[in-house]
Amino acid sequence: MQRFSNISIKNKLIFIQSITAFLAVLLCAVVFVVNDINIFKENAVRKLYSVARIVGGNIVAPLEFSDKNIAQEILQSLDKEPDIKEAMVLDTAGDIFARYTRPGAEIASFPNTRSSQIIYSEFSGRKLLVTYRIYHEDEFLGIIIIKAELTDLNTIITSYILIAAIVLLAGLLAAVIISNFLQNVISGRLLKLVSKTKEVAETGNYSIRVAPEGKDEITTLSLGFNNMLEQIKKMEEVLKGTNIELEKRVKTRTAELETTNKKLEATSEELKHSNSELEQFAYVASHDLQEPLRTIANFVGLVNMKYAGKLDADADKYLGYIVNATTKMQNLIKDLLEFSRIGSSIAFTEVDTAKVLESVTEEISTTIKETGAEITSGNLPVLTANIVELKRLLQNLITNAIKFRKKDATPHVHISAEENKFEYHFTVKDNGIGIEEEYKERIFIIFQRLHTVAEYPGTGIGLATCKKIVALHNGKIWVESKPGEGSQFHFTISKTIVTDKA
Ligand code: ADP
Repeated sequence: MQRFSNISIKNKLIFIQSITAFLAVLLCAVVFVVNDINIFKENAVRKLYSVARIVGGNIVAPLEFSDKNIAQEILQSLDKEPDIKEAMVLDTAGDIFARYTRPGAEIASFPNTRSSQIIYSEFSGRKLLVTYRIYHEDEFLGIIIIKAELTDLNTIITSYILIAAIVLLAGLLAAVIISNFLQNVISGRLLKLVSKTKEVAETGNYSIRVAPEGKDEITTLSLGFNNMLEQIKKMEEVLKGTNIELEKRVKTRTAELETTNKKLEATSEELKHSNSELEQFAYVASHDLQEPLRTIANFVGLVNMKYAGKLDADADKYLGYIVNATTKMQNLIKDLLEFSRIGSSIAFTEVDTAKVLESVTEEISTTIKETGAEITSGNLPVLTANIVELKRLLQNLITNAIKFRKKDATPHVHISAEENKFEYHFTVKDNGIGIEEEYKERIFIIFQRLHTVAEYPGTGIGLATCKKIVALHNGKIWVESKPGEGSQFHFTISKTIVTDKA
C-alpha cells in the first residue's frame, strides 16, 4: 500500500482505469464464451436428436420384421456424421439388434445409459449420448443409442479463448491510451497546481496564480490556492508598509536622537568648559587668598600676643573671634585649594593599599590616640591608582569615621576590600552616629554639612573631595547607614583606569 501511495497520481489513475476496463472486458468475454459453448452444445444435442429420430423412424420396419441386415445398413449411414462414434439399436428385450462403430473410435469410455425417457441426452466432457425410444402405433419396439464426440468443441473453445485474449489486450491497450489521455484532465491540472506551489515556495512571488478550468473540485482547489496567495500577498504588502513606516520612524527618531546628542555634547562641552573655569577660579581664588589671609593671621597673632589682657574685656573677646574666624578661613581655603587641585596633575602607579593605610594611620596618630580609636583592616590589594589621592581618600573617610563617633563609645573603624572582575570594592565601616536616609546623596555635595561647626568641626568639602578622587579612578562612592548604628562608606577603583587622566 505504501508503494502504491508513492506512485504519481497520473500512474495511479491509469492503473485504476486500466484494471477496471480489463476486469469488465474479462467478465464479458467469460460470459460470452460460456454462453456460446452452451449454445453449441444445445445445437449438437438437437442435431443428434434429429438423427436419432430419423434413424429411429427408418428402423421401425426392420425391427417389426426382425431384419437385422437392413437395420445394420441403416445404422451404417451414420458414417456421414463424423461426430458420431457409435450407435446401436436394442430390441425390446434389451439385446443388441444392430450396431455401428466408427472405425478407430475409442468407445470404451462411453456410458451405456438406457433411459426410460423417450428421448434422453447426457454430456460427459466432449462426449454426448442420446437415446431414443422407438414406438409404432404406441407399441414399444426398441431403443436407439447414439454416442458422439464433439470434436469441434475444442477448436471452438480455443478460438474463443484466442478471441477473448485479443479483445482483452485490445481493451487494455485502449484503456491505457484513453486513461492516459483522460488523466491529463485530472492529474495534469493537479500537477500544474503542484508546480505553481513549488514556484511560489522557491521564488517567494505571491502574484503567481493558477488559471481555473471548469467547475470541479480541482477548480475549487485552484481557486482556494489563488485566494490563499491573494491573502498572503495582502499581508506581505501590509507588512512591507509597516516596515517602511517603522523604518521612517526609526530614521526620524535616530535623527532626533542625533540632534539631542549633538545638543548634549555641546552642553557637556559648555559644562566642562565652565566647570574648568570654575575650578580654575576656585584654585586661583583660594591660592591668592592664602597670602593675604596668612598676613592677617600673622598680624592677628601678633596683636593677640602683644595686647591680650592689656585692652578691655570686649577687645579681648573680639580678638578671640578674629583669631577663630581666621583659622577657620585658612582651613576652608586649604581644603578648597586641595579640592580644586585634584586631577590637575595626576599619575597612576602600582600602589599597595595596605601601605597607604599604614601611612594614613601614622599621619592621624594623634587623633587616634586622643580618641582611643581602633583601626583594623582586612586583606588590602595592590592596584593601579594615584597614591596621593588614594591616601587623601582613605584619610578623609577614616577621619570622618572617628570625627562622627558616638559620645559614649570607642570608635571602631574597619577597612576591607574585595576584588571583582572589573574593579576593587572598598568598604570603610564605623560604629559612629550614622546618617539619616534622606542625606545619603546630599553629603557628597561640596559644603553640605549635617551639623554645626560647634557640634562637629569641618568645612563640608571632605566627601566632595572623595567623590572627585573616586571619579578619577573610574569608580563610584556611596554610603549605607542607619542613624545610631554606624555607617559603611563604599567606593570602587576600576581596574581599567582611563589613561588621559594620567
Ligand atoms: P565635614 O566632615 O567637613 O563636615 P564632609 O564632606 O567630610 O564634611 O562630610 C559631610 C557630612 O557628612 C558631614 O558633615 C557629616 O554630617 C556627614 N558624615 C561624613 N562622614 C560621616 C560618618 N562617618 N558618620 C556620620 N556622618 C558622616
